[in-house]
Amino acid sequence: MRLQTASEPGNLSRGCQGRPDPLVFRWMQAGKDRELETTDRDGFRFRGGHPALDLTATLQGRLKDSLRELLAEPEDLARWLVAAGLASPDIACDPAAVRVARELREAIHQLVHAHLAGSRPPDRARKVLNQVARRGSAPRQLTADGEALLAGDALQRLAFVANEAIALLGGTDRGRVRKCENEGCAVLFVDLSRSGARRWCSMAACGNRHKVAEFRRRQT
Ligand SMILES: [Zn+2]
Repeated sequence: MRLQTASEPGNLSRGCQGRPDPLVFRWMQAGKDRELETTDRDGFRFRGGHPALDLTATLQGRLKDSLRELLAEPEDLARWLVAAGLASPDIACDPAAVRVARELREAIHQLVHAHLAGSRPPDRARKVLNQVARRGSAPRQLTADGEALLAGDALQRLAFVANEAIALLGGTDRGRVRKCENEGCAVLFVDLSRSGARRWCSMAACGNRHKVAEFRRRQT
């Protein structure tokens, strides 16, 4: 099963016509295929296989000198929520939601890196995560067509992401959270492959780059 993409607005609202805020949620339906989803959509990277990890990729250039903020404006957050499959295009975002999204993102980033380093969760990041999660998560709704959707405003959807982050970092899949092995790539992902040996955020991007570098090394 493939995930919806932002370039398919028709699919975003499929099955929920006539509702004021039909909120589509396909991520969980992707199930075991999540690890295969490496597509970049609408200028964002969705290589993490998990919305909390994908949120951390909205600040680019973490390993370089210049950071690139992809959630600069409320419209950016709305586009990300839609591209992530967490909202339909009519979702409304304001500057307060952008601030929460960035704070949540950096908290998740710090918590994942602490976990990867074998450290305890840093207090401040943990408190931010818990605080956002407590705000009341967007509820899942089942449509007449049997589709799972998310309802609620932007803050509730961010609370949903926070809850999913807690389920990931506090659950059995946390041992499958990885940073891409490409040294210059900061993307985090959850390795849901059967072998548990996934090394790259994207085979098409970082995996191939590594293969080419290996090939060149063998040639010289
Ligand atoms: Zn990578």
